[in-house]
Order: sequence, then structure tokens, then C-alpha cells
Amino acid sequence: MTLPHTTAPALDTLRRVFGYDAFRGDQQEIIDTVVGGGDALVLMPTGGGKSLCYQIPALVRDGVGVVVSPLIALMQDQVDALRALGVRAGFLNSTQDFDERRLVEAEFLAGELDLLYLAPERLKVESTLRLLDQGRVALFAIDEAHCVAQWGHDFRPDYLTLSALHERWPNVPRIALTATATEATRTEIANRLNLTEARHFVSSFDRPNIQYRIVAKNRPEQQLLELLTTEHKGDAGIIYCLSRASTERTATFLSQNGIEALPYHAGLDARTRATHQSRFLREDGLVVVATIAFGMGIDKPDVRFVAHLDLPKSVEGYYQETGRAGRDGLPSTAWLAYGLQDVVQQRKMIATSEGDDAHRRRLGTHLDAMLALCETVRCRRVQLLNYFGEAAEPCGNCDTCLSPPESWDGTVPAQKVLSTVYRLDRERRQKFGVGHVVDILLGRATAKVSQHNHESLTVFGVGTELSEPEWRGVVRQLLAQGLLTVEGDHGTLVLTEASGEVLGRRREVRLRTEPKRAGRSAGSSSR
Ligand code: ADP
Ligand code: ZN
Repeated sequence: MTLPHTTAPALDTLRRVFGYDAFRGDQQEIIDTVVGGGDALVLMPTGGGKSLCYQIPALVRDGVGVVVSPLIALMQDQVDALRALGVRAGFLNSTQDFDERRLVEAEFLAGELDLLYLAPERLKVESTLRLLDQGRVALFAIDEAHCVAQWGHDFRPDYLTLSALHERWPNVPRIALTATATEATRTEIANRLNLTEARHFVSSFDRPNIQYRIVAKNRPEQQLLELLTTEHKGDAGIIYCLSRASTERTATFLSQNGIEALPYHAGLDARTRATHQSRFLREDGLVVVATIAFGMGIDKPDVRFVAHLDLPKSVEGYYQETGRAGRDGLPSTAWLAYGLQDVVQQRKMIATSEGDDAHRRRLGTHLDAMLALCETVRCRRVQLLNYFGEAAEPCGNCDTCLSPPESWDGTVPAQKVLSTVYRLDRERRQKFGVGHVVDILLGRATAKVSQHNHESLTVFGVGTELSEPEWRGVVRQLLAQGLLTVEGDHGTLVLTEASGEVLGRRREVRLRTEPKRAGRSAGSSSR
């Protein structure tokens, strides 16, 4: 490209090609580093503007910017968007047939491309490496760089081969980018990609305009409806559910209640998915009820709320999904309803998941961090930012700051739950879940209780001071604190090592006071 010499080429490209006035945050410095031939490791939250950090250097430097991205489904869109701006972009991935690939390869060799997107597995193929040898590479951009971290939540084995880029082309600058990385993951990225000399650019992960709220789940659809009708009338938003069935159910429920909502999940045919996605992007005030299949690469500035009806599997996932709210900087809500069943279900899924013990432990660690965020009595934002290795002060704009939760000494109720589990645990052949434990504590002679002669247990009926929902809250918090866990696919409650400390009176248990629900059924006090 020929550029006027009066303006700095990067800024000129920003204005002329992309139509923006000024760089944001660290963009300028990152771009200068890469244009100057240096390596960079970039941590920027979703929506922060990572793409320009490699797109502009690719345009400014001689040769083709090679972008490694795992998001194969998005490559076509990305390339189309760039072409619409007059940038010569192409991609190579497994969705193409031989002829399509040949065409892109020819463009690359003829110097007719500014940017070439590659799926990581392409770089395991010697012919791709030889192709790159024959052309001129301006830079390597490694997008979603956290995929190289084995400890992360998104590990892709193909990313491990990317360290070879540096060995083969030591003089080509590299820029690795990610929106989600804890301190440990960042170190792992730098090590595995051999980015020892890279400058690190760490933007704040804070999204001050997002108000974080996590509530106890009781009647999730009603709770959601209340949020939408009182605070988000007519607003665009995304609601995440775990299962396809529940996205459909929730979308129908909202539509019946006057809120236009479209389902989105991998089980819908491609046409329906594309229509729902483009309607969400183009129309005002539409709600999408989706599985996590929805959202990667969705860039809609005025999403006013992101609601979770099920517990995300990790803080990274939660942060990424909630980050789709409020990209325009205006006040937005991240709302999550979570309950005991979420914990039981996820522990079960982990216990029965494919993969080795190390993998299961990793999933468990991620879940624990998510639960700690849910159960914290501190500022949610502080907890969230600390998780990503950032210091912060209480924000005044999250539920725990706005109405600080109280805690109470739950040691005795915890002991009652744990000793019940201990007694049931001795009947190894049997599987007893939460419901049965609560029945015993409340002294309910259900059929199952009688069948197993559990009226004779010393713990039978010792827990009448709390209601059933309160007991379930206690069990949920014990699960969250690792004082109890779930085994097998029946959701059997079992003790952990830490349980012994509570049973042996060597450890106090603090529990969050749950807000009393309006209209709670029998047994509730006068309120
Ligand atoms: P990320 O990849 O970090 O999630 P993107 O690169 O997709 O973010 O950028 C998010 C949005 O911000 C895009 O719409 C992009 O065009 C816009 N954007 C990026 N940099 C600038 C800038 N300097 N000025 C204005 N808008 C920008
Ligand atoms: Zn706060």
C-alpha cells in the first residue's frame, strides 16, 4: 500500500481503512511494537479492540499478516467484513475444498493478500509451512492464545505446534492475543509459544458499566421475567441456558409473556440459526435465549443485559459471556440465577466426564472458582478482577456492594448435614441425594425413608429449625465451599477431607444469609 508521508502510517490506516478517529487504550503502543518487528502478548477484554492490533500492522508492514484462529466458523465472516473495507483477506481451513484452497494459495503467493486466516491444524501440514516459506509473511497473529494453555478451559492440542513458528521464521514478529487469562495462563502462553522477548500489554479487565448480580434461584423464569419487565423493558439481551431444551422453553415462556425472544442452539438448522442471529444484530430490543454456542464474535454494542439461568462452568466463561453486555459503555446488567441443582448437576457432569483424573480435577478447580464468585460476601468485581490477577477496590456497582450480604454461624447445621451424609455413606450400596438428606433432617417419614428404616437414625428430625429451602441453601453452600461433594451419576452426596474438620469441631462454617423469599410456602414467618 502507498501511504502519504505526512501522517503516521498506522494512524492513517486506522482512519482511511477502518474509519475510526483515534486508537483506544494500548492499541497504538501494541501496533507500534509489532510494526517495529517486536513480539507482543496482548490481554484485552472482549470488545477491547484486539483485531486492529494485528490488522493494522499487517497492512503497514510488507507482506501478508498470517492470523491463526480456532474460530473456523467465523473466518468467512471476518474475511467478508475485511473485504468490505477494501482489505485483501483470505482464509484456509477444513471447510474448503481443494479448489477453494488452491485459489487462496495462489493469491498468497502472488502477493495479493494483506491478511491470511489459518486454522491451527493447517500449520501441522508441511505443505502449508512450505507455502508460507514461498511468500512473504509480515507477522504471525495468534488469536485466542489461551488455547495453548493446558490448564485453561479451552485447550486445543493443535496450538502446541505454534511454537514452531518462531523456530522456522525467527525474524517474523508475533503477536499473541487473548481475552481470558489468569496470571498462570499468561505465563503458560509466553512459555509455550516461546514468547520470551515479547512485550506484555495487559489491559484492565474491568467493565465498570456492567453491574454484576448473582441471585439465589427459586423460580427462575419468574425471576427472569421480573428483571426484564422492571429493568429492561424493550432492551436487547442474551439469556444463557445450559441445555437446548431449556433455551426453547424459556424463549416460548418469554414470548407468551410479551417479550420477543428467539432460541439459539446447535440443534437448530443452520438457516434458522443464521436468521435468529442476524435478526438479533439488526433489530432493536430482541432477546436471544441461547446455549454458549451463541456469542463468539457477536459484536452488538447495545446488549443491555446478559442473564444466566444456569451456572457457567468457569469464571473465564462467565466473564466472556457477560462481557457481551454493554460494549457501548452504557449501563448494563449481568445477572445470574444459581441454585443447589446447578452445583449437583455440574459436580455430576464432572464426575462422569470423559478424560483422565487430571482433566476432572481441572474442571473441578474451574467450578470451584465460579462457586466462590457466587458465594462471596465481598464485592463481585473485586473477586472477579482478583481472579484475573488484578487488584481492585469495592465497586459500589454490584449486588454485594449495593446490599452487603450478611453471614451467620452455620457450624451446627453444617454438622447436622455432614453427619447425616456420614451415616448414609455407610450404606455404600445405596445412593442418597440431597432430597433424601433433607427429608431425614426434617423428620419426614417418606416411603424411601421408611423403606430404609431411616427413622431410626439419630439424625432423623434433628433439623426442624430450618425450612426445606433453607436446608437446600445450606447444602449448596457446603458444596460450594468444598465441605461436601457429589459422586457418580446419581448425585450421591459424599464427605470430603475438609468435612472431617467440621465434624471434629475444628472448623467453623460461615454461611451467607439468603434473602427471604416473598410468598414462601407453609412454614414461613409472618413476612
Ligand atoms: P475484541 O477482538 O477485542 O473482542 P474487536 O477487535 O472485535 O474486539 O473490536 C470490538 C469493536 O470495537 C469492533 O466493532 C471494532 O471495530 C471497534 N473498535 C476497535 N478499535 C476501535 C477504535 N480505535 N475506535 C473505534 N472503534 C474501535
Ligand atoms: Zn462491587
